[in-house]
Amino acid sequence: MTTPIVDALRGALGPDQVLTDPARLDERRHDYWMVSHLRDRGATPAPRPACVVRPRSVADVQATLRLANERGTPVIPFGLGSGVVGGVIARPDAILLDMSAMSAVRFIDPVNLLAGFDAGRNGAEAEAAVAAQGLTIGHWPQSVAISSGGGWIATRASGQFSTAYGNIEDIVHSIEAVLPNGEFVVLGKGPRASAGPDLRNLIMGSEGTLGVITGVTFSLRRAPEARALSAFEAPDMVTGFELQREIVQSGWRPPVMRQYDERESRRLDGRLTKCVILMVHEGPKALVEAEVAAVAALAAKAEAPPAPADIVEHWLDHRNNVPPWDAILDRNMVADTVEVSADWDRINSVYVDAVTSLKEIPGCLAASAHSSHVYRSGLNLYFTFAILPPDPADMERAYFEAWRRILEATGRHGGSLSHHHGIGRARRDYMKRELGAGGLALLRTIKRALDPNGIMNPGVLIPDA
Ligand SMILES: Cc1cc2nc3c(=O)[nH]c(=O)nc-3n(C[C@H](O)[C@H](O)[C@H](O)COP(=O)(O)OP(=O)(O)OC[C@H]3O[C@@H](n4cnc5c(N)ncnc54)[C@H](O)[C@@H]3O)c2cc1C
Repeated sequence: MTTPIVDALRGALGPDQVLTDPARLDERRHDYWMVSHLRDRGATPAPRPACVVRPRSVADVQATLRLANERGTPVIPFGLGSGVVGGVIARPDAILLDMSAMSAVRFIDPVNLLAGFDAGRNGAEAEAAVAAQGLTIGHWPQSVAISSGGGWIATRASGQFSTAYGNIEDIVHSIEAVLPNGEFVVLGKGPRASAGPDLRNLIMGSEGTLGVITGVTFSLRRAPEARALSAFEAPDMVTGFELQREIVQSGWRPPVMRQYDERESRRLDGRLTKCVILMVHEGPKALVEAEVAAVAALAAKAEAPPAPADIVEHWLDHRNNVPPWDAILDRNMVADTVEVSADWDRINSVYVDAVTSLKEIPGCLAASAHSSHVYRSGLNLYFTFAILPPDPADMERAYFEAWRRILEATGRHGGSLSHHHGIGRARRDYMKRELGAGGLALLRTIKRALDPNGIMNPGVLIPDA
């Protein structure tokens, strides 16, 4: 069956770019959010969209948004669907804009260390293209092989090597986007600019609600000359946090610094009994050697003895595994990871409060955390929970209860409710708490100005008034 918007899109783009076959629509109903996978097994699976549009050029995206804007048709951008907070859930009246056919490497410039890609380019394939020239993007989310450059920008993603190389906002040179009215913009120029507000930040983290990212230029690095690994066992989380603070505030920057609580340390390696801290050091050989020695001295001072470095090798080898939800849902369990952040003087209160609160949920099997992104002023925590509710009918309720407890514990101690997965639908109703009434009003004003007809990804990021 076709609808007037499908006919109009086929007229503008050609029939092969506007898909309505049920199998294709089914594949694009939602992202990787556990709730959507749970609902697929029950009475309320995400509906199919009206059609899937697969643009091949900026002009295709412009034509799609112009038509949608004229008719008030919702548009849901889809990168590679690895989002974990419900940023993509189709609706029967919506165009699902699948960016995966826009996947070209536009250029690699080894002099200025820049590389441009279409927004739908797979992250691992983008990295492979620059690695062939001895360069790196330096952005390694665990989902690198199942996510796109456009998705990284849209969600303000973080990679595992962020402590030295930065998060996506530190790696992006410029962003190209189509606004809801079809206008094309290129945001960002030169290595740095002081030309009014940095408009790239309007698009970064906008989760498909303010426009469609069509291309991105990343600022690259040369592949590091040397790499070394170290690991230490801190007697408890507080000692580990203090050691990490001392390391970064002294000026050292191991790209990877991860601290696991006792439960997660044991799960990582049966030999561990305390809180392990894993580090990867990279850069010029002399710097790496100096960093390894300095970090070892700081760890000794903190009474955190060395742990076997093969634990870091094992982590490196398995770090990009993507666990399927089915194995958990088949056992009537719900599980997820929730990442937040807080300043150094609050982080342990967030950790203790959230884990204690999670453990009180009936059927809670696991409540734990690790940190994985470190800053001069604080760090993130990545909570993991697994719950087997006494009544399987309560699975979705238990899932949201776990999220509520983690976010409320974080809010109570003044942390940020999202470190890198974004807001989607999972955190939307906490946005007033995160931004304050004034901040949320500003976000709504920006949304109205750019998208007065409200066509872009409705239901995501911005809570209902
Ligand atoms: C196993 C696993 C591990 C993960 N690890 C990490 C991690 O280490 N770090 C991290 O940051 N995230 C991680 N994620 C989350 C996810 O991979 C990121 O959010 C990623 O950036 C999403 O990219 P995507 O292309 O898959 O986007 P999608 O899931 O397709 O979309 C995500 C959001 O961005 C919007 N969007 C996508 N493309 C565009 C575009 N071109 N223009 C406008 N809006 C767009 C969508 O509408 C949606 O709101 C992980 C996910 C999984 C499943």
